[in-house]
Amino acid sequence: MSTTTLTPCPVLIDNVWRTVETKEVAAVHNPSTGELISEVPMCGADVVDEAVQSAQRALEDWAETPPVDRARVLFRYKMLLEDAFEEISALIVREHGKTLTEARGDIRRGIEVVEYACGAPELLKGECLENIARGIDCLTIRQPVGVCVGICPYNFPALVPMWMFPLAIACGNTFVLKPSEKVPLTGIRMIELLVEAGMPPGVLNIVHGGKECVDALLTHPTVRAISFVGSSPVAKYIFETGTQHGKRVQAAGGAKNFVFVLDDAETDKAVAGMVDGAFGCAGQRCMAASTAVVVGKAQDTFLPPLAEATRQIAVGATDRDSKAGMGAVITREHKERIEGLIGMSVEEGCDLMVDGRGTTVSGCNDGFYLGPTIIDKVQHGMKICNEETFGPVLNVMRFSSLDEAIETANLQSFGNGACIFTTSGKAAREFSHRIKAGMVGINVGVPAPLAYFPFSGWDYSFFGDLHVQGKEGVYFYTRQKVVTSRWFRPNEGDIWHKD
Ligand code: NAD
Repeated sequence: MSTTTLTPCPVLIDNVWRTVETKEVAAVHNPSTGELISEVPMCGADVVDEAVQSAQRALEDWAETPPVDRARVLFRYKMLLEDAFEEISALIVREHGKTLTEARGDIRRGIEVVEYACGAPELLKGECLENIARGIDCLTIRQPVGVCVGICPYNFPALVPMWMFPLAIACGNTFVLKPSEKVPLTGIRMIELLVEAGMPPGVLNIVHGGKECVDALLTHPTVRAISFVGSSPVAKYIFETGTQHGKRVQAAGGAKNFVFVLDDAETDKAVAGMVDGAFGCAGQRCMAASTAVVVGKAQDTFLPPLAEATRQIAVGATDRDSKAGMGAVITREHKERIEGLIGMSVEEGCDLMVDGRGTTVSGCNDGFYLGPTIIDKVQHGMKICNEETFGPVLNVMRFSSLDEAIETANLQSFGNGACIFTTSGKAAREFSHRIKAGMVGINVGVPAPLAYFPFSGWDYSFFGDLHVQGKEGVYFYTRQKVVTSRWFRPNEGDIWHKD
């Protein structure tokens, strides 16, 4: 039970914000200082049921609302998000710890999904063919799935929820959103603006919590579809449990992304791409560069400037220091877990090219800081190679040929992203064809697709068929109906046997 005087985050049901009494609350900290900034009620099945019932009541009318009118709410929403852009960015910095530039990217990429969803009348158009047989026409219709649910991770407090609800409601569904219990404030502010934009009561409801809350959503008989983004073990659990309960599920999981550097790469571009890929958002991105795969002579030309550039990163309190190039990680427990993995890699025989442990920030002794770290001589099979670190840690694996490097990279179980830095078109083509990952970058450090392309992880990085964003997002949030129609002319004979 809470012993503080903070007001717990409200839930939203029927467009009414209210606090709920729960047995447990979770603490929300500012990672830069360790300060307690909010508390989250850990909702159970009773609150979840209220939210789902509200979404179900709103469904019939919202599904019948013409797509152009649904889109108009989103157009207004987009304008309100633009007006509140800096305010929301600052909120993300405060509850997540990323830099202001990174926070602006978080909300900007999210707004782009809203812009995409504003195209609902175009996106929802079906196909039509006249005369599939004489006098018979066929057309496809896309209809909403029903009550949909979104369960979010902490690392993109704005973008990840926006991967889900704008398109879901544009397609005529109603929605229950569960933000991450570690960063609930951004989601709440974004949904306040959606209410202001004219969203009818019940079209989107918010609940908070952890496993108990998620389980109630996964098993609720009225829920038709679940979007999940988070770590792979939980993604797998969500997919299995949700589908066992008859729901459509898309569940994006964790990652271990390999970034190749060949000896013909432009060194400065490769160094900049690797540093941003590995240490941007303190490595807490599912598209983070977690392993530098360094081939041939690049070991001599690329690694020394990489180490130097990494040492130059200014770790700081992003909520007060505009010069900070990298912030803290999300919680103390997460920092200690990553430090444990670094320590274990040394026991397994790796060398620390740059060691970020013990990094402190003046005036912020309780912040969750861990400096950028580079671990050299990583081999396949080591824990640090196979397990997602999700922090400012870059592994280095050394190879003598591209062939050997691709074969080793393809042994991993994740399949989110992979990149190559090279000036050889032939090598880039070979790489993009053979590498076992759903999103590939060529001379790009973080190949995260924008709103109109699918975020298409493979293997242990994704469970389901249809990914978030783009046309796949529209397909996920709609059911297709095929209508075959025939209108008889007076005295028309048998069309099947017409000579
Ligand atoms: P997490 O898996 O711990 O939590 C994600 C959500 O699941 C939260 O809302 C949490 O409340 C809920 N949850 C946690 N444990 C649960 C359980 N046992 N049963 C039911 N629900 C549970 O993830 P996180 O630490 O918040 O986020 C980081 C992870 O998200 C990383 O693994 C990262 O790679 C991944 N991620 C993936 C993508 C992608 O597109 N593939 C994007 C962003 C983040």
